[in-house]
Amino acid sequence: MIRINEHYRKLQSSYLFAEIKQRVDEYQKANPQTRVIKLGIGDVTRGLPGACIQAMHTAVDEMAEDETFRGYGPEQGYEFLRQAIADNDFQARGADIKPDEIFISDGAKCDTANFQELLSGESRVALPDPVYPVYLDTNVMAGRTGPEKDGRYQGITYLESTRENGYIPDLPPEAVDVIYLCFPNNPTGATISRTGLQKWVDYARDNKALILFDAAYECFIRDDSLPHSIFELPGAREVAVEFRSFSKTAGFTGTRCAYTVVPKDCRAWTADGDTVSLHDLWFRRQSTKFNGVSYPIQRAAEAVYSPEGQVQVRKLTDFYLTNAGMIRQAMTDLSFECVGGENSPYIWIYGGRSSREIFDMLLNQAGVVCTPGVGFGRCGENFIRISAFNSRENVEEALERIQKALA
Ligand SMILES: *Cc1c(COP(=O)(O)O)cnc(C)c1O
Repeated sequence: MIRINEHYRKLQSSYLFAEIKQRVDEYQKANPQTRVIKLGIGDVTRGLPGACIQAMHTAVDEMAEDETFRGYGPEQGYEFLRQAIADNDFQARGADIKPDEIFISDGAKCDTANFQELLSGESRVALPDPVYPVYLDTNVMAGRTGPEKDGRYQGITYLESTRENGYIPDLPPEAVDVIYLCFPNNPTGATISRTGLQKWVDYARDNKALILFDAAYECFIRDDSLPHSIFELPGAREVAVEFRSFSKTAGFTGTRCAYTVVPKDCRAWTADGDTVSLHDLWFRRQSTKFNGVSYPIQRAAEAVYSPEGQVQVRKLTDFYLTNAGMIRQAMTDLSFECVGGENSPYIWIYGGRSSREIFDMLLNQAGVVCTPGVGFGRCGENFIRISAFNSRENVEEALERIQKALA
């Protein structure tokens, strides 16, 4: 008899998001003349930079000719792309990362999901609340948790991001082995300082722990004092892995290209206490289970680092940051407490009442859809997330409606 992985049955289906869809549908039915504006979107809305499109076209033509055709590429990704990444994203910022420490992939989502399979099933896991659900659900699937109760899984150490701690979690009260961090954060938009992040690096070194650092929103950082990479910090090479993506940087959510940095010094231990290189394990994993990202897409990603590409990507992220600034200003003027929206495309808004109530109020009074914070974890209760990924027209109209309704 074929049996299933029972751990999958512990997963909670998101009633909340099904409920949101239902409420929006009901509202639209009752108000057919109102155009509902969705400010809950976690996906980019603008076209790809011209430099990327041009590079992709050229690469597609190369694929048509026997002389320039490419079959299977290197599992780790093409050297031209890994070199461009190492130079621009790391060496230029004083982070000593070499091209052979970079693994090109088709998404940071799958990399953050897959990396945990290198680690012991008994590893004690710490992850943020509120959180990007992938980190949690993949550890549930792997059997590292007990059942869920009142919105929390037994065996997980929750790193709470709250008004009290300025949305930067405190170090865990008990020893943990693997720590997920994400800055600039989804969903809170919070950023971490160099000294704040150094504390985590030091903790990981002292406790022989591993940090899985998700920097998918690094390209929205404008404050020069903030670290773009955990590898800008001394000591991080031994204790951290970093996930990056072209999804939010260059609008690649549907194009698919990302990368993971595993320094050669990054280590973990066997049951016998011997040191093992995580770089070697990830290389083995990727070459066994993954066959690379398509050549035209890797060429498109390389073009992000060309002089024109850099200008275009900056313009793209500036556009969303202007939306974010407008949203943050408008909500602050209405006396809401906001975090994010600076160095981040998300604004995390404290509503002083349940997430569902704020959601209902914005929908029923303004025809605007946001994301209830409680959908990201218990600490998200009483918050909503508003996303800057939208057209300027939609943001302007949504804010006008909210101002009119709440003034
Ligand atoms: C969007 C996002 C990613 C990027 O995922 P891709 O699979 O590369 O599109 C990674 N982490 C977080 C927290 C995100 O919000």
